[in-house]
Amino acid sequence: MGVSPDLRKLVIITGPSGTGKTSIASYLLDVLNDWLEFSVSATTREPRPGEQHGVHYYFMTVDEFKERIASGDLIEWEEVYPGKFYGTLRSELERIWSKQKAVLLDVDIKGALNIKKQFGNQALLIYIHPGSLETLQERLLKRGTEDQEKLKERLERAQWELSQAPEADIIVLNDDLHDARSRVLRYVKGFLFDGIPEPVEREP
Ligand code: 5GP
Repeated sequence: MGVSPDLRKLVIITGPSGTGKTSIASYLLDVLNDWLEFSVSATTREPRPGEQHGVHYYFMTVDEFKERIASGDLIEWEEVYPGKFYGTLRSELERIWSKQKAVLLDVDIKGALNIKKQFGNQALLIYIHPGSLETLQERLLKRGTEDQEKLKERLERAQWELSQAPEADIIVLNDDLHDARSRVLRYVKGFLFDGIPEPVEREP
């Protein structure tokens, strides 16, 4: 790996719910443990079983979330699903950068583009693409974390999200998790230690 890289950088992983973003993000955090740390977002959605406050998300009420917006604590936020707000805390970036690590974010495409606009080449935006809406539907059904109504909501949104993929720096097709995550790792290492990677992968 390179010498004394400037790690005031951001790696943004995006893509529709159920594309394998979270698995890929965990892999990156494992392998690049000394270089990369997860930015814990604020959200108003309910915790899923096993999710911990301060680890997976900072869970809060809508009122608390709105106070954080008013105080200017969020660098971006979105109402990703009706009544469900998600946002990136400025304090997370500073917390991670102060440890000489780069920030890893798992955010929706709107938030991702917003962050990319603010940070330019300091940020690498990777879109994890499921290949098709049908594949995504199968994965979400298999995951079984959403009820019928939430599943429908996520799939409706996914259709629009898939159309936004070309806006990312890199699109990685996740047809095989092992393979996709090693490719993502290669791009992230390139970005952290050498700058924006070339050539850019554009699969689907
Ligand atoms: P989930 O409810 O499945 O954890 O996340 C739903 C969506 O919200 C995912 O696409 C996830 O990437 C996105 N998300 C999580 N945190 C943030 C955030 O801080 N900002 C934005 N804009 N989206 C987020």
